[in-house]
Amino acid sequence: MNFDLTAEQDQLRDAVRSLGRRYGHRYFVEKAKAGEHTTELWHEAGRLGYLGVNIPTEYGGGGGGITDLAIVCEELAAAGCPLLLLVVSPAIAATVINRHGTEEQRKRHLPGLADGSQKIVFAITEPEAGSNFHRLATTARRDGDDWVLSGRKCYISGVDEAGHVLVVARTEDTASGKLKPALFVVPTGAAGMTWSKLDMEIVSPENQFLLYLDEVRLPADALVGESLDAGLPALFSGLNPERITVAAMGAGTGRYAIERASEYTATRSVWGGRTIGSHQGVSHPLAHAAVQVELARLMIQKAATLYDAGRDLEAGISANMAKYAAGEAAALAVDTAVQALGGAGMTTEYGVATLLGAVRAGRIAPVSREMILNFVAQHVLGQDKSY
Ligand SMILES: Cc1cc2nc3c(=O)[nH]c(=O)nc-3n(C[C@H](O)[C@H](O)[C@H](O)COP(=O)(O)OP(=O)(O)OC[C@H]3O[C@@H](n4cnc5c(N)ncnc54)[C@H](O)[C@@H]3O)c2cc1C
Repeated sequence: MNFDLTAEQDQLRDAVRSLGRRYGHRYFVEKAKAGEHTTELWHEAGRLGYLGVNIPTEYGGGGGGITDLAIVCEELAAAGCPLLLLVVSPAIAATVINRHGTEEQRKRHLPGLADGSQKIVFAITEPEAGSNFHRLATTARRDGDDWVLSGRKCYISGVDEAGHVLVVARTEDTASGKLKPALFVVPTGAAGMTWSKLDMEIVSPENQFLLYLDEVRLPADALVGESLDAGLPALFSGLNPERITVAAMGAGTGRYAIERASEYTATRSVWGGRTIGSHQGVSHPLAHAAVQVELARLMIQKAATLYDAGRDLEAGISANMAKYAAGEAAALAVDTAVQALGGAGMTTEYGVATLLGAVRAGRIAPVSREMILNFVAQHVLGQDKSY
């Protein structure tokens, strides 16, 4: 087993870390509180090639894999800038289009995703379906050559920043009643598509939206792939990259919080000359959180390596485990860091409590810890499906 990154990946990690530190958590929070986006950071990362590391070179990307994109996600988060749209645009949308889109769709969308000039966000969740995507009710109806989409989506991140939304719909005439998903690249300016912002208790420059599709008419080539048969594999192809990159973001956030707290506890002294970090009641919880974050990083590395080797099924198990582990570790790390910082932990200035909402959401989205445990129970432990 080899734990070494390639020389290029090492350089990528260093370079992204220094970019992230130049912006830092203060910038991230100021943008969030002003209701603005991290546009400067996004565009600079795009210009430097970091947003397209996993996109093939012929479409303007770096020609790497999800391992590389996970490095970008982790290092920006470790600098205090956990950018959720990295998970939806380069990880999910670029993977789906690259693996299952037509050549025309690859040429149309991938260069813009690679240089960051375009964002494609992802819409699967629906109010009535929730975790059960078999209940998706957004329909795609054929009308001549066109497709007509109708339905409602919720919690969709970044709609206001994106040029397109990758919408998961179901074809209307499924006689069997089984889900036949189809994916469509819908321009945010399409007639009939509207959205409204959800108020979320998360400090983030990226927002969530309710998305309404009211008889949205699309040309035939909005359907991802050559035919409806591309739908299910296309949908599944986005899942592993999603879980791996969101896990990397969680691990980076955990590292960031532990670093902030450790710097503080190593220098703050309230009992004579001893630092508060010399008290094991303070240092052990931080050390415990550091162990959990490091374990999660190991599983992220395994999942990304398997995925990049084309071993999708094994990668699926590891990606789910990595997402679970990183979600728990990030929540633990941020909570522990807040505690170690005492009152300072709750201030905006120290920049840790600002992450409480985000890491809490990381145990729910994009797939909840319970649904991962269901998956592991069924596919690893051989238990009957419980739902
Ligand atoms: C910050 C944020 C960003 C998001 N961004 C996007 C996005 O960009 N695009 C998108 O499509 N969606 C997005 N989502 C939605 C997210 O993927 C869903 O919230 C998530 O999949 C859970 O669905 P739900 O909220 O409907 O919960 P529900 O399905 O209603 O579940 C509620 C609770 O019940 C549990 N539960 C449900 N079924 C079972 C079961 N069978 N066994 C055990 N427990 C179960 C769940 O684990 C959860 O704890 C986002 C959500 C958040 C919070």
